[in-house]
Amino acid sequence: MQEIYDTIVIGGGQSALACAYYLRRADLNYVLLDDQPAPGASWRSYWDSLTLFSPAMFSSLPGWLMPESTSENPLREEVISYLTQYEQRYAIPLERPVRVQDVCHKDGLFEIRCDQRLYLARTVISATGTFRDPIVPHYKGSKQYEGLQFHSSQYKSPETLAGKRVLIVGGGNSGAQILAEVSKVADTSWVTLEEVSFLPDDVDGRVLFDQASARYYAMQKGEPIDPYRYSLGSIVMVPTVKEARTRGVLQTVRPFERFTATGVVWPDSQEEVIDAVIWCTGFGYALDHLACLQLQRDPKGKTAVEGTRSIQQPGLWLVGYGNWTGFASATLIGVGRSARQTVAEIEKYLEQV
Ligand code: FAD
Repeated sequence: MQEIYDTIVIGGGQSALACAYYLRRADLNYVLLDDQPAPGASWRSYWDSLTLFSPAMFSSLPGWLMPESTSENPLREEVISYLTQYEQRYAIPLERPVRVQDVCHKDGLFEIRCDQRLYLARTVISATGTFRDPIVPHYKGSKQYEGLQFHSSQYKSPETLAGKRVLIVGGGNSGAQILAEVSKVADTSWVTLEEVSFLPDDVDGRVLFDQASARYYAMQKGEPIDPYRYSLGSIVMVPTVKEARTRGVLQTVRPFERFTATGVVWPDSQEEVIDAVIWCTGFGYALDHLACLQLQRDPKGKTAVEGTRSIQQPGLWLVGYGNWTGFASATLIGVGRSARQTVAEIEKYLEQV
């Protein structure tokens, strides 16, 4: 007879591991399915020099603090090492590489179709992150542009851009950090929709997390939200961005009108030859594997949830996709709260079905 799991978790990143921590404590029969060849999930693909916004002790999953970093904030490799050790420490049952193609619901059970096998489960946690769904805005003429263009998810290091004229598009932290290192070897402009605001130098991810939590609790209590109290700015002044400021490269310009074959046309009608464009324009949600469930999704790709529980599909939870699935749930420190609540709900649900 084919095994029926209490819960199958799709994904093997920080969100899936945080859920596994609580599933293990709940003594449920579960497995994680991850399509990567090794631990680390999307951290394996981020650019080489990426460091966290916060020190190790404020970047930890439930149960075990991230070991101290060799630098002020952990490096990308240190996060991968932490996630690797976390899996081992809690002996998390995880199968990889296993790509979930489709999740359907039939006769009260989820059928999880993968390349080689079909899994059955009473409940499913989708924890597939955002990295799979990079967003590139539409600009007129982009198809005829013959220069190099790629999304920040494909950026690894600046060497190949040396000596080139490069546009970095996007006013978030990815844009600021990629600009900071590309501007050392290339002639860059930072293209943003509006002026960006920088956090004070002494404010890091800890403060942002505290601020996000305070806002969340105020909302839960139905208290009025004073936007100024919760808005310090958006760019975290990590050391590389501070260094870029000393070189005067953190200036922004408003978007170009359209592409030409060799470059762009600026709002004042000036044409310029551009060698490369890096789109630091964010991510949607990697939810294609849920297509068979026919969940309604809004224009941004979100589906209706209460906390992390799908409103439309009983037995399905979505963890780690951002504030809409739990405040600060797309961070190492924040996802534990969502995971704990999710597993508590799954335990109750399984008692009733
Ligand atoms: P992922 O890490 O994306 O893991 C999802 C896993 O599921 C992946 O292994 C993926 O391959 C797999 N998967 C997807 N689809 C399928 C499928 N159909 N079948 C099987 N497997 C599948 N967070 C912090 O806490 N601190 C920071 O300082 C910080 N800095 C960041 C800087 C940048 C530039 C970026 C982009 C993110 C940063 N984050 C930070 C956020 C954090 O990296 C992500 O939010 C986090 O990786 C999300 O974890 P996750 O487990 O939800 O998703």
